[in-house]
Amino acid sequence: MQPCHNCQSVIDEYLLDKQLDGLRDLTVDDFNVCADCATVVDDSCVECGGAVYVPRSASETPDFCPACRAELLADGRDPGWCRSPVSN
Ligand SMILES: [Zn+2]
Ligand SMILES: [Zn+2]
Repeated sequence: MQPCHNCQSVIDEYLLDKQLDGLRDLTVDDFNVCADCATVVDDSCVECGGAVYVPRSASETPDFCPACRAELLADGRDPGWCRSPVSN
């Protein structure tokens, strides 16, 4: 069982699968956000043009879907949820 990256609670894969149904072939293993924290935004990912699944506490719509973010993380860099981190 993976904990949610956003709220640290245990992810209910059944609820999450229902929420992601009909979108990309994502599973909980792709991004590790629970159904309570995930919000779907269609056609917003700058990498793949797919739906973005947003932690609900995020105030802005992210540029990366969790799958692409996970790929970037695997590359050794953390893009955050947005392409341009607000750091200034
Ligand atoms: Zn959560
Ligand atoms: Zn993507």
